[in-house]
Amino acid sequence: MKRWNGWGRDEYHYHFAPSAKAFVENIVGKGEIIPDASLESIIKKVSKSRLPQHPLFNDSADVRVRRARGQSFPDWAAMRYGSVDTFPDAVASPTSQEDIESILALAKKEKFNVIPYGGGTSVVGHINPEKGDTPTLTVDMCAYDQLLDLDEVSHTATFGAGASGPQIEDALAVRGFKLGHYPQSHEFSTLGGWIASRSVGTQCYYYGRIEHLFLGGSMHTPQGRLDMPAFSASAAGPDLRHFALGSEGRMGIISDATVRISPLPEFEHFYAVFYPDWEHGFAALREMVQARLDVSMLRLLDKFETESTLQLSGKEKLVNFADSGLRLIGMGEERCMMLFGITGLAPIARNTLRQAHAIARKHKGFLERSFIGKLWYKSRFTTPYLRNNLWECGYGLDTLETVFPWSKVAEVKDEVEEALFTGLEAENEKLIVFSHLSHMYTDGASLYVTYLFRRTADAEETLERWKKLKAAASQVIVKHSGTISHQHGVGVDHRPYLPSEKGELGMESMRAFYEACDPNHIMNPGKLYKDR
Ligand SMILES: Cc1cc2nc3c(=O)[nH]c(=O)nc-3n(C[C@H](O)[C@H](O)[C@H](O)COP(=O)(O)OP(=O)(O)OC[C@H]3O[C@@H](n4cnc5c(N)ncnc54)[C@H](O)[C@@H]3O)c2cc1C
Repeated sequence: MKRWNGWGRDEYHYHFAPSAKAFVENIVGKGEIIPDASLESIIKKVSKSRLPQHPLFNDSADVRVRRARGQSFPDWAAMRYGSVDTFPDAVASPTSQEDIESILALAKKEKFNVIPYGGGTSVVGHINPEKGDTPTLTVDMCAYDQLLDLDEVSHTATFGAGASGPQIEDALAVRGFKLGHYPQSHEFSTLGGWIASRSVGTQCYYYGRIEHLFLGGSMHTPQGRLDMPAFSASAAGPDLRHFALGSEGRMGIISDATVRISPLPEFEHFYAVFYPDWEHGFAALREMVQARLDVSMLRLLDKFETESTLQLSGKEKLVNFADSGLRLIGMGEERCMMLFGITGLAPIARNTLRQAHAIARKHKGFLERSFIGKLWYKSRFTTPYLRNNLWECGYGLDTLETVFPWSKVAEVKDEVEEALFTGLEAENEKLIVFSHLSHMYTDGASLYVTYLFRRTADAEETLERWKKLKAAASQVIVKHSGTISHQHGVGVDHRPYLPSEKGELGMESMRAFYEACDPNHIMNPGKLYKDR
């Protein structure tokens, strides 16, 4: 079963080795073991639903608690410390377009808010009910998850928007196809959520970002249904899909979506390259991208993330073995690891590997072909479970991400990291901060920063620490005119920073469009912008 107060399934536990724990303790100090609030204690806080009885509505306290928060740091704090104070009044799980339409008609008539809910994996507060007198219905799309159509000739498939990553891939694999959208939240996140929050997967160079994969579909708004026909391309004015992409539940509920799919690849393999330092790795990375190498996945870890990845893997013997081997070939303390994947037709893949190896060698890189890439692939969806172990040992962990031109990204990286490193100096607290460049474009690269700090037994104090760090890093991004999010979206956590990148007219135009679809402001209020 899905955990109610952390990441993942109850039955899976990440092995947090004593050596990994010691690594964290040595840097930030020993964490305090702080007991979590129990599910029962939170259920007791749930008040009577303010919504009318309806055959589609479930107002049991357990169901409402489990849909009350996502995966942001404040969400974790609220659930784990037991300070959560708003819950949806009920949860509906529609199974047809008619269900969705009747829910929205009732919401308009009875004046209650509606939050579309996919996998609840949002990390920016997308699915949290607002405090206030208006009741909230969370519409969990999990029961609207079927493969509705597959066009084997055109390589397209239509799914119910509640289909999760594994459901989509399983349904396509038996027919010889693949979507290939792999955010790290793949296990739970859904097609509707990916579209509404503009998600990006790790293998996007081969399969495409969600903007490329999403061909069309249906959006049900309080003012009626908006059809977005699945054209391969169209020059007939603005593309309405772009109003749905990133709409974060403000526009309506996506019921189904048609996506581009690919045949199962003939070849797929992942590799690691070690570089003596960041500068060499960075130069090789840029060259690979700007030479338009046919990789499917690509990232460059800085020296702290390279070291932390090895240490936190808990594979002590292997880490020591790798360390001595790498030192022998001149890769010391400054070494940085690049990971890349190649997917597709075997002859093209062989050629890409040759080209990647040549660029790596030119920049003093050492290619490791067989082990580390495989290990990354195997553990790509299980590493998020480590956040549970860290939390239970007294540590908070969060990530942030942006994108900058190649000419600027390294400078911004240094400044963001410095802001985080020094963010809790007044409290005398040390942090672990590390980064990787996660998604590359010929003109720039996205920066993904992870930071870990100690929690205290006091929920407010812990939240204050996070707020300080988040604000310090976000202000650096805004100061350099960067985007507040490359892939996680806006929700409530990034809302204060959105006007600085969209401008006044941009914010007003966005608001006007969503208000045309939802004049009574019932759709996911408070996300993207504050309601007037
Ligand atoms: C461990 C972890 C790893 C992650 N890794 C990545 C990553 O690699 N790349 C990435 O892009 N993101 C990542 N994320 C963030 C998150 O998974 C994405 O934002 C994802 O797209 C959210 O999908 P979801 O189905 O869980 O949506 P939810 O969290 O349920 O909702 C997100 C937003 O979409 C809206 N929404 C959901 N379904 C619909 C619908 N049918 N119609 C209209 N609106 C809808 C909601 O109202 C909300 O505003 C990660 C999160 C976690 C916790």
